[in-house]
Amino acid sequence: MYMSINNGSLKEIWVQVKQIIKTTLDNDNKSIAYNEFFDRTELEELNDREAIISTDFEIHYIVLNDNENLSIINNALKAVLNSDVRARVVLKSTYQKNLLENVKKMEINDNLMPEYTFENFVTGPSNKESYAACLAVAMSPGRNTYNPLFIYGDSGLGKTHLLCAIGNYIKKNYPEKKILYISSNTFVNHVVSSIKQNKIDEFKERLNSLDLLMMDDVQFLSGKDKTNEVFFDIYNELFNNRKQIVLTSDRSPAQIKDIEERLISRFSQGLSVTVTTPVFETAYQILEMKIKMHGIDASSIDPEVLSFLATNFASDVRNLEGSLNRLLFYSINFSRDNVINLNLAMEAFRGNISTSSANKKLEINDVVNAVADYYGFTKQQLYGKNRTKNIAVARHIAMYLCRKHLDVSYKNVGYEFGGRDHSTVLSACDKVEKLISTNESFRKAVTDIEKNL
Ligand code: ADP
Ligand code: MG
Repeated sequence: MYMSINNGSLKEIWVQVKQIIKTTLDNDNKSIAYNEFFDRTELEELNDREAIISTDFEIHYIVLNDNENLSIINNALKAVLNSDVRARVVLKSTYQKNLLENVKKMEINDNLMPEYTFENFVTGPSNKESYAACLAVAMSPGRNTYNPLFIYGDSGLGKTHLLCAIGNYIKKNYPEKKILYISSNTFVNHVVSSIKQNKIDEFKERLNSLDLLMMDDVQFLSGKDKTNEVFFDIYNELFNNRKQIVLTSDRSPAQIKDIEERLISRFSQGLSVTVTTPVFETAYQILEMKIKMHGIDASSIDPEVLSFLATNFASDVRNLEGSLNRLLFYSINFSRDNVINLNLAMEAFRGNISTSSANKKLEINDVVNAVADYYGFTKQQLYGKNRTKNIAVARHIAMYLCRKHLDVSYKNVGYEFGGRDHSTVLSACDKVEKLISTNESFRKAVTDIEKNL
């Protein structure tokens, strides 16, 4: 599911994706194709839209770019990330060459997504503070106390949108300012390749000359010591010259793990704001906004339908948008009279309103059942307050699996598990991830439970 992007490194994600590809091909009696072509690939970059996958050999590159093979990869990506990320297979040598050229070009390329603007952003109780802080920064970059501005919250709630909105605003109103939007994954790649090419000083100089640095998803810097160091230098240089820095993350500065302490303390120096799940009214307005942006006549959609989507899919906005896209797609193909009414919507989503809040509890329950069965505990013990070590570990696994397999926020998991808070769940998930990567028998236990889900 999509959240996994936040939870694991590219390597871990790719291991999961490859596992699914392998199973798919094994089932088709094509294990040999897997071993030859798919196994020898790496995931180089991942963002909301695209996964860049590299291979060393020309033949492999050609084979993997075949539509059928691409769709095998796309399907596996979807299964792991729960998001329509498209695979792009590249030759490793070409990729590295381009990376280097991009480092050179970075000066002129701001990487902003033009459609993410303040005008297109719907505000409500879940995001109005963040919106106001971003607008304040955009209006007077570097000249306020909001430096850095740190925006955090679960995936799909508008962080990247707000970040780009700041950039687009500044680009329009202060065209002389040098700005850069970069995801921390891309930043890591640039640092690594600059070091390899002995160009790290040039790289730093280029970033030091910025007026505005927007770095998306800084949690991906964790565990990357060398990159932390480079980022620290750039950060200080920009900050000391009163240049604006805006950062986003899936968690607050205090909850970030494995990033240098001195960086974390700097992250907390300015203003931290959060985005949360939209309330019904905001979700409804977002749908209206997206319909307008699609150029569709709003009166062709029954308001009941919008209420239905806003009720069932608003746990994250990406999901909400996805539900609308799906409905529009369905209506083009199946609506007889060009009207989208509740019946049509029910038909479009029949059988799989998996994100509906009515079903969510049941799904968490399924996970808890599987964990409880495996360890011979009762469900009540897992939901409850008992802190006996064994029970606590089982509970942590259940929380981790909920996050991994269900579309549910840290906050909601905590709520379901006896009203624990967001940070408890976050730290439980971190612990489990750590154990999975360090302890083979623990990893096996978790995979066994997953098989029973
Ligand atoms: P995040 O970076 O927090 O994961 P994004 O900024 O990528 O989330 O948002 C996911 C999608 O939802 C984007 O298409 C974005 O335009 C849309 N979106 C999120 N919040 C809003 C909002 N308040 N108004 C309009 N669109 C929104
Ligand atoms: Mg984002």
